[in-house]
Amino acid sequence: MTVYNFAAGPAVLPKEVLKKVQAELLNFNDSGMSILEISHRSQLFVDVYEDAKARIYKLMNLDDHEYDVLFMQGGGTTQFTAVPLNLTYQHHRAAYIDTGHWSERAVEEARLLKGVQADVLASSKDQHYTTLPKVPAIPQDTYDYVHITTNNTIMGTAWQELPETNGTPLVGDLSSNFLGQDYPFEKFDLMYAGAQKNLAPAGVTIVILKKSLLGHVKGLPSMLDYTKQAAKKSALNTPPVFQIYVAGLVLKWIDEQGGLKAMDARNRKKAQLLYNCLDNSKLFKNNVDPRYRSLMNVPFVTGDAQLDAKFVKEAQEHGLLNLKGHRLVGGMRASIYNAMPYDGVVALCDFIQQFEKENR
Ligand code: PMP
Repeated sequence: MTVYNFAAGPAVLPKEVLKKVQAELLNFNDSGMSILEISHRSQLFVDVYEDAKARIYKLMNLDDHEYDVLFMQGGGTTQFTAVPLNLTYQHHRAAYIDTGHWSERAVEEARLLKGVQADVLASSKDQHYTTLPKVPAIPQDTYDYVHITTNNTIMGTAWQELPETNGTPLVGDLSSNFLGQDYPFEKFDLMYAGAQKNLAPAGVTIVILKKSLLGHVKGLPSMLDYTKQAAKKSALNTPPVFQIYVAGLVLKWIDEQGGLKAMDARNRKKAQLLYNCLDNSKLFKNNVDPRYRSLMNVPFVTGDAQLDAKFVKEAQEHGLLNLKGHRLVGGMRASIYNAMPYDGVVALCDFIQQFEKENR
């Protein structure tokens, strides 16, 4: 039976990449050693790291004079702290747009820091996060940055156009649509993303930031200090060699698929298929404002918790795995990241229709 993994993260990786990892596992690059064994100081790893970094610049069309790329640890969650620590050096105030659980977490962590004020400028909480809020005009010279979550993994919303910030630096948590949705990335001053959705196994976090943001704050804990991490080329301590290696292979795979524009178009096609199937259903429903529907995470419900559980169980038996919704919202969620083939979404839609016939 063909199996499709709809998990929200850790998530499906391209089969071609997994096969390459398997083929190379015992003997990386004719070294006689596994990638799991090599030193982060070896030329073997330095080449892997430089290649992955160069591929990020290329795919995202970013200038390597203007932006630095860091490979950090501690997931997106650690960036909730690192961002305000490093960036609130002028106004000591940061603005957040609250679009769901992960935005809320970002605010909570920023508020734990002494000397940082985190203001929520707009929120869609009152609409149960099924839409995105209107962003008010950002006052000039007031905030060190405006923070958005580009894709809301749990609620299934995403920014289709980036908000206007009126000159205030824009920071994005791209964890769940990094390299899956194309944006004018040069509008961001800082982007971060945990790897475990579209890029690699959990354990590495990509931070891409303007070099002009470096060097302003002294005395930060070293591991959270972007300036020190940049100076040490992300090897301030032992970096996650294997994760960076897999990230490099996935980046190469994306390039071979035609880059981010092709990836974005492919993901739109998959998402459209699934949203059409749900919109045409009398049993299932996706409650998200159609203007802001995510390309990556598609939550849906029947409205009956028992029937939802039956769907998840039977889907599992048909090889459609990990469709249970996040505990905060219940129901179902299909995560259809880059590595989910179109055929996987077709199989899900077929099953949705079959289940509806049998359970009307
Ligand atoms: N931001 C978003 C948008 C996420 O989806 C997640 C995890 N699902 C996080 C942050 C937290 O990431 P991590 O588990 O890597 O700390």
